[in-house]
Amino acid sequence: MTPRSPVWHPFTQHAIAPPPLEIARTEGAYLSTADGRRIFDGISSWWVVTHSHREPRIMTAIRKATEDLDQVIFAGFTHRPAETLAHGLVDLVNENLAIPDGDPARLAHVFYSDSGSTAVEVGLKMALGYWFNIGRPRRKIVALEHAYHGDTVGTMSAGARGIFNAPYAPMLFDVERIPFPARGREHDTLDALARAVAGGDVAALIVEPLVLGAGGMLMYAPDMLARMADVCRTSGTLLIADEVMTGWGRTGTLLASSQAGVRPDILCLAKGITGGTIPLAATLATDAIFEAHYSEDRRRTFFHSSSYTANPIACAAAVANLDIWRNEPVGQRISALADAQESRLAHFRDDARFENVRRMGTIAALDLKARDAGYLAGIGPRLYAFFLERDILLRPLGNTIYVMPPFCTTGDDLDRVYDTIAAAAEALV
Ligand code: PMP
Repeated sequence: MTPRSPVWHPFTQHAIAPPPLEIARTEGAYLSTADGRRIFDGISSWWVVTHSHREPRIMTAIRKATEDLDQVIFAGFTHRPAETLAHGLVDLVNENLAIPDGDPARLAHVFYSDSGSTAVEVGLKMALGYWFNIGRPRRKIVALEHAYHGDTVGTMSAGARGIFNAPYAPMLFDVERIPFPARGREHDTLDALARAVAGGDVAALIVEPLVLGAGGMLMYAPDMLARMADVCRTSGTLLIADEVMTGWGRTGTLLASSQAGVRPDILCLAKGITGGTIPLAATLATDAIFEAHYSEDRRRTFFHSSSYTANPIACAAAVANLDIWRNEPVGQRISALADAQESRLAHFRDDARFENVRRMGTIAALDLKARDAGYLAGIGPRLYAFFLERDILLRPLGNTIYVMPPFCTTGDDLDRVYDTIAAAAEALV
């Protein structure tokens, strides 16, 4: 018997999962094993890799940063990579959201953390802190049905309840849940939101703009995002945009919010902020939110930190990523990938074995009509195994197959992926 690894893997049921595959090298859109197996990374390694694995300019920036810096305490100290990145983020994000200099809607402040969950946790705390500090405490958070915002206590609370968090229910706080804005049910969502905020006690609405990722790659129209944002604006409710997954080009623009002309009060970024090379997150906030915490009274401090806040090497990686966004035709690459996805998806739109064939920018998803749908059903793991045996990494969410590859993915790569999806339907349904 081989010795058991002490590693406890995330979202893995070790009793039934096959042994993990050891990856020795990554390049472009591929993961390679030591014995030469090349696996197409169809989910960008949990949605983090944007341009490509080991994007050369980002890797060079990381190497260079290590010559001067490792970690520096970020209370009372700062460093060039964090400063450069904060300026760069503020410029790029506000440009993308069309918020000019001097506009109070400008996302002018950058708080660093190290994962998507912490970016959102920070956003929730900023929202509650804002109301607390201005002396009009509001306690309620409104979130969407099927939402996923992370795995810390606050983000699990904002996320949909289900098997993933049932054991931890005693730790979670209640949020006001409004229906997912599915086509034909728009009024249900807007009415529920209007009712929720009517009491004047809602601190914030938190949304995944345009695509709910872990909830099943559920997509909704930019107009609905704009209308939800309108309700927030007219009722004085803060809007938190969790762009942890949708940011950095996935939905066809740098930020999904910009497609709806939405200006969130708080914006959460992670995953692709370093091109998917190294952990880093940023929560951006308006002047109003910063000012509510700005005081000679220490009790109004924003009480959040973690040891590795603003790690200089990670910040340097993100600075290099911003340079790529500024100086390379990233937008063209994204629209080419989006078109390439669309042309393959088109064949499935009238394939009776599939339904809900959908796409938002570079993200494509389709549901296999299976009797045993749902996360715990057998179809998800069977599909996963089918794809992996053919050297394609796709991790279906129940019967929802989605393809969210790095931007360097070629037409040949996609042909193989979609041929394999068709073959899976043939073999497994
Ligand atoms: N928010 C969204 C929308 C996400 O998709 C995720 C991760 N899939 C998170 C937050 C949490 O990010 P992380 O896994 O980096 O903590």
